[in-house]
Amino acid sequence: AVAVALLTSDLRLRDNPVLHAALAGAEAAVPLFVRDRAIEESGFAVPNRQAFLADCLTALDEGLRERGGRLVVRSGDPATETARLVRECGAREVHIAAGVSDYAQRRETRLRTALEEVGCALRVHDAVTTVVAPGTLTPTGGRDHFAVFTPYFRRWARAGRRSPLAAPRTVRVPEAVGSLPLPRGRDVRGTAPGLARGGERAGRERWASWRRKGGLDRYGQRDGGQSDLGADATSRLSPHLHFGSLSPLELVHEAAAKGGTGADAFVRQLAWRDFHHQVLAARPRAAHADYRPRGDRWRTDRGGGAAAQEVDAWRAGRTGYPLVDAGMRQLLHEGWMHNRARLLAAGFLTKTLYVDWRIGAAHFLAHLVDGDIANNQLNWQWAAGTGTDTRPNRVPNPLTQARTCDPQGTYVRRWVPELAHIQGAAVHQPWRLPAAERASLDYPDPVVDLGEGQARFRAARQPD
Ligand code: FAD
Repeated sequence: AVAVALLTSDLRLRDNPVLHAALAGAEAAVPLFVRDRAIEESGFAVPNRQAFLADCLTALDEGLRERGGRLVVRSGDPATETARLVRECGAREVHIAAGVSDYAQRRETRLRTALEEVGCALRVHDAVTTVVAPGTLTPTGGRDHFAVFTPYFRRWARAGRRSPLAAPRTVRVPEAVGSLPLPRGRDVRGTAPGLARGGERAGRERWASWRRKGGLDRYGQRDGGQSDLGADATSRLSPHLHFGSLSPLELVHEAAAKGGTGADAFVRQLAWRDFHHQVLAARPRAAHADYRPRGDRWRTDRGGGAAAQEVDAWRAGRTGYPLVDAGMRQLLHEGWMHNRARLLAAGFLTKTLYVDWRIGAAHFLAHLVDGDIANNQLNWQWAAGTGTDTRPNRVPNPLTQARTCDPQGTYVRRWVPELAHIQGAAVHQPWRLPAAERASLDYPDPVVDLGEGQARFRAARQPD
């Protein structure tokens, strides 16, 4: 018998329950990736993620070939194309990872119907893209998901987990099954100049080199990168987790085996990822609607007024607040941003400028290589105070943040070249420079006074 492994957000050989199950029960298996035309024609398929995805597919194909197999690529509607392939090769089973987003859940339903028509079974595997499957942990009191991270994490840390699976040794793909050519990452136009390389091998190398350099050991410490923007010391594994070129479960196992405060802090961050996924799975509307409405009448970028200009300045990294601008420029240059910078940039847009979080979230999704509906939309809601933050009305201050996250101005000098010659912490307040020096800088004045922005937000927002 033949089985199909329909790969989606699990583009890896190691610890892949979908591939494993397809190979275990059949003489031959087809590792299939369908280029989903609906996604490719939507705004979601942006160059940075398309290029990273192409790298992942190339790496997967190489790995499968080393084992005697290959990746089969088709294009169109995943349900229709999978059913077509099933007819071609007489497969009896299709395996897929459980989807979390609304889109993935609808895709699964359509796939089930299409496969029923051709007499083929669909096997859905949990805990492939997350460590703990959404919906398996629920709070006492009958709620269907956790709305607060800390109690979720307590349960998550104690939850039983399967052991990671080894990569398959051999893969046999029926010869007659045809494939489209693989997309090539370097053919994608309009990518960020500093974009990271995708694929399981690149991901494993990054994970190994980060640990070798002490990244995991230092992770939880003050200078370990979680809060020090200049150190740039976080793992940068997020795009690999988004595309599944690394298994989150395997990372948890390997970090836990190492142990220590750094490993604990890192595992906790991976739990944040699961936390947002379980919120989204239970409340798919939270991708677009306020998870917890606070009566906001947001400013928008429509109509060309002051807010529109401020949003443009924010997108371009020209708000006049160097730390905010550094983050926004890093996003444009690398398609990635440090978590602290994301929090600050999002808090600045939604609270200081009081602009609708959806506008900021869309800009992030247009550039982030790890751009992810669960993590992006729910972190944006967290920053805007419409999500799961238990202190929704605090307003982050870029100058205070500069003192704790970039005390020497290293991060700002790296990303805002106009200010690169200014020594030390003075780089955070260019408006304080002597008038002649200030006038010679091609750098804007602040778009808003921080006190005024904060007062506007406090007046508009319902109390907690
Ligand atoms: P590390 O610090 O090394 O953490 C390890 C892993 O833990 C990350 O790769 C990530 O998978 C997970 N993680 C860490 N922090 C978070 C978090 N707050 N929420 C969820 N998972 C987390 N992350 C995305 O993967 N995709 C997004 O689209 C995304 N959008 C964001 C938007 C905003 C406004 C904010 C504040 C955060 C967003 N994040 C998003 C979360 C976080 O910023 C990134 O996961 C992190 O910066 C990635 O860098 P890293 O891999 O070096 O993280």
